[in-house]
Amino acid sequence: MPPRFVVAVTGGKGGTGKSFVATNIAVLMSRHVELTLADLDVEAPNDHLLLGLQGLENEEPIAIFFPIIDYKKCTACGACAKVCDTGAIVMAKGTPPMVMPRLCSGCKACLYACPYKAIDPEGRRVVGYSYSTLVKRGGGFRLITGILREGEEHTPPAIVVAKQRALKETPSDAMLIVDTGAGTGNGISAAIQEAELVIAVTEPTPLGLHDLRAILEIARGMEKRIWMVINKAGIASHEKHLETAKEYGVEKVFLVPYDPEAAKIYARGTPVVEECPSCEASKALNEIAQSLLVEALEKGVRRK
Ligand code: SF4
Ligand code: SF4
Repeated sequence: MPPRFVVAVTGGKGGTGKSFVATNIAVLMSRHVELTLADLDVEAPNDHLLLGLQGLENEEPIAIFFPIIDYKKCTACGACAKVCDTGAIVMAKGTPPMVMPRLCSGCKACLYACPYKAIDPEGRRVVGYSYSTLVKRGGGFRLITGILREGEEHTPPAIVVAKQRALKETPSDAMLIVDTGAGTGNGISAAIQEAELVIAVTEPTPLGLHDLRAILEIARGMEKRIWMVINKAGIASHEKHLETAKEYGVEKVFLVPYDPEAAKIYARGTPVVEECPSCEASKALNEIAQSLLVEALEKGVRRK
């Protein structure tokens, strides 16, 4: 059974503060309900740093399909290379294929295309690691972290495996908060797939607005409910962001004001809602957490 309430915190570009929002909300909400936070920003996960954790625990490899070829069966027919759209299979004329691991996305197209069953269906390659760590902040919660190995290019398979671990380790009467990576590629769609509600975090800059539209387009296309957080509000006008929110049917808009004190606390790797509950940013984050809490309790998420 999937968790009762899945929420994805995302943002088109890096640096909008989505991890800041996700970690602080998790700390606040964990005082009241059972939850898991999943850091699926597999290229640069930093929720554990923002939560001041000394290390990550319970490592598991993230392994994806990799074509291991039985050269006794292979006839060098070339069918596998023809269907590989990442160029991972290299064949010089008349010689058997060679697979370049870093280019392989694990899509299995070659496996299905091989007419001689020369590719092992159980072949695997480790592309990263996932971790499951107990966080003792707030009321206590579990943090699932996915990390891609250095040099790996294909983030979606690693996101999917780390997300599956988060779904498996979150009780069915708890909630799951997913912190996605930056950008608007396939990895983001994979990360937000199970979420009922998407919280798009943006900032009041032209680039922020541009990337906001891209992420809203994805969320609307996937028929998600959408809330929006304008982080660092006050550094410039956010009128156009509000117009965009209306255009995309965003249900709620929250403003987290630019707060120099919160920025200093953030840099020290401590959740601002714990270190400075009276800071302006903390008050705004509390408002978001309260709204989410109402929803979570309505859906029957287990109280603590
Ligand atoms: S699994 Fe997909 S990407 Fe990898 S070699 Fe086969 S066809 Fe290419
Ligand atoms: S499709 Fe199969 S038999 Fe043909 S070259 Fe690839 S591995 Fe060899």
